[in-house]
Amino acid sequence: MGTVRTTRTDRRLLIDKYELYKPFGFYAVLLAALNSAALGGGDITAPSAFALVCAGLLTWGLIEYAIHRWVLHREAHIEDARLHGNRVHLAHHLEPYALDRLNVQLSESLPVCAVYCLLAWAATGSWRATVFLYDGLMLGYFFYEYLDYQAHHGAARNAVVRYFRRYHLLHHHCDAEARFGVTSPLFDLLFGTYQVKRKEVVSRQ
Ligand SMILES: [Zn+2]
Ligand SMILES: [Zn+2]
Repeated sequence: MGTVRTTRTDRRLLIDKYELYKPFGFYAVLLAALNSAALGGGDITAPSAFALVCAGLLTWGLIEYAIHRWVLHREAHIEDARLHGNRVHLAHHLEPYALDRLNVQLSESLPVCAVYCLLAWAATGSWRATVFLYDGLMLGYFFYEYLDYQAHHGAARNAVVRYFRRYHLLHHHCDAEARFGVTSPLFDLLFGTYQVKRKEVVSRQ
């Protein structure tokens, strides 16, 4: 039997849309409920709320970077995926176009959200401020999922997607110890992992 080669269009048609959108549906409902409660009163001004959302977005960038670099790549030897590191993520490196794990599972993101909200509440002493910080975190998370999908399966061609697709594919195909950020180069620049050491042409089917 010959090998069946699938194109990007074929792969997109095979994607399980329910699995793809399930976390977004869940978080959209949760955020709508939290924000309708938080916006219903309290003494947080619009500029303060905006600043909190920006701070939440920034913490997303740091969390994304820290989990990707220090948890998912804790032994960054792609060939030893069965022995080291986070198997799911290293499997994603071995097969970036696989369709079975398109995004972060609710069972993985919910504990991170719960810990984040508890820490934000402890730090600010205000559940309304926590909601705005959480809004920023989730904005970053949605952007992350969008960009990772676009990097491996999507067909968007706008300048923002092209920039971040190349950025992420350099991590995949050139140097797995650089470019850990997906939604921002900020933390790669801050932690010295911006520079890609192995220069190769980034290929994408
Ligand atoms: Zn990826
Ligand atoms: Zn990685």
